[in-house]
Amino acid sequence: MALVVQKFGGTSVANPERIRNVAKRVAKYFDQGDDMVVILSAMAGVTDNLIGLANEMAELPDRREMDVLLATGEQTTAALLAMTLKSMNYPAMSLLGFQAEVMTDCTYCNARIVDIGAERIRELIAERNIVVVAGFQGMDRNGNITTLGRGGSDTSAVAIAAALNADKCEIFTDVDGVYTADPNVCGKARKLDKISCEEMLEMASLGAKVLHIRSVEFALKHSVPLYVRSSFSEEEGTMVVNGDHDMERPVVSGVTYTKNEARITLKKVPDQPGIAAKIFAPVAESGINVDMIIQNTRASGETDLTFTVLKGDFKRAMDIGRQISENIGAEEVMGDENIAKVSVTGIGMKSHTGVASKMFSALAAENINIIMISTSEIRISCVVEEGKAELAVRALHTAFGLDA
Ligand code: ADP
Ligand code: ASP
Ligand code: MG
Repeated sequence: MALVVQKFGGTSVANPERIRNVAKRVAKYFDQGDDMVVILSAMAGVTDNLIGLANEMAELPDRREMDVLLATGEQTTAALLAMTLKSMNYPAMSLLGFQAEVMTDCTYCNARIVDIGAERIRELIAERNIVVVAGFQGMDRNGNITTLGRGGSDTSAVAIAAALNADKCEIFTDVDGVYTADPNVCGKARKLDKISCEEMLEMASLGAKVLHIRSVEFALKHSVPLYVRSSFSEEEGTMVVNGDHDMERPVVSGVTYTKNEARITLKKVPDQPGIAAKIFAPVAESGINVDMIIQNTRASGETDLTFTVLKGDFKRAMDIGRQISENIGAEEVMGDENIAKVSVTGIGMKSHTGVASKMFSALAAENINIIMISTSEIRISCVVEEGKAELAVRALHTAFGLDA
């Protein structure tokens, strides 16, 4: 008998028939004697619809109220699954984030889990209940509802698995595992039987939304046995392994992309000590994450400063950019939402040269212009025009010999 945490994503609970299929799958494990904790996402499209509604009500919807709103998506599916299981005569109970004592910090819309009590979950398991928990949501120390950022129900699942010391955490989704690139974009992508936490972290942070990045951080930190599998088949899936040193280390193991970022440029910024701090302190204070930063010096002595933020933060970041620009005497602020970031990742890159030049050549061969570049030990990212992202992924997948 094992304690199994299973998480089902939006497409897996998209309609009543699929929720019934989830109930059957969960019931099967329960019948085998396993203790079951099930974490759910909102039905596919629901979170987007709720955000759309909020944007109709206010230009910059209040973030506290946004979380109260968004949490309803997962509240719905948790209740629907629990009542389905009960109608099948299984002992089940749904819990919202706060009832499962998922405690977070106070960053609305992008809260981080600070602690999980899980007392109630333990009690319910001990009484042989199937516990269904609404993913993506928690509560801050003042009793406010918070959400964990888009895709955050993966993190709910792994964090709850860690808190319960579960035997495994399975993420059920609409693809049958982690691939070398998004299989919906790159037909030649290959499914991986195993992926190291390190590579998965990198891929998740660069746009492979198959796992929310913080779920991988939790798995790594708390050694949670983590699997990605399909809700629509019995296939094995991908194991996310913690520190398996026998694994093959190809130079490039994955290609990812994201259209989630936007670019902001402050033009003709005075070139003085302390200016960068003046620009980025207010951005950070308002909880906006900055990804890439580029500064070029003009012949005239001033600099142009370009940085990227999440599209969801773009309007706020532009507002802040305009204020800062006035304060420091920059010439103008420009924004561009039509960009994509394409990245190649691989632990083998640490000990290989020539990866960047190969990447640039492959993009050039497709006539794709590179707007920004950033690198780390195990990754190279290029910002390109949004419409070229998919072509870039396929070209790089082929260039680095990853095609199936
Ligand atoms: P869920 O709603 O189940 O959480 P998501 O849409 O968040 O599902 O994540 C699954 C999607 O992730 C897939 O449909 C696929 O398009 C995308 N994806 C991106 N990169 C990868 C990758 N490297 N391997 C597998 N899927 C990927
Ligand atoms: N429903 C939330 C979202 O769409 C959380 C999740 O699905 O993981 O982002
Ligand atoms: Mg997801």
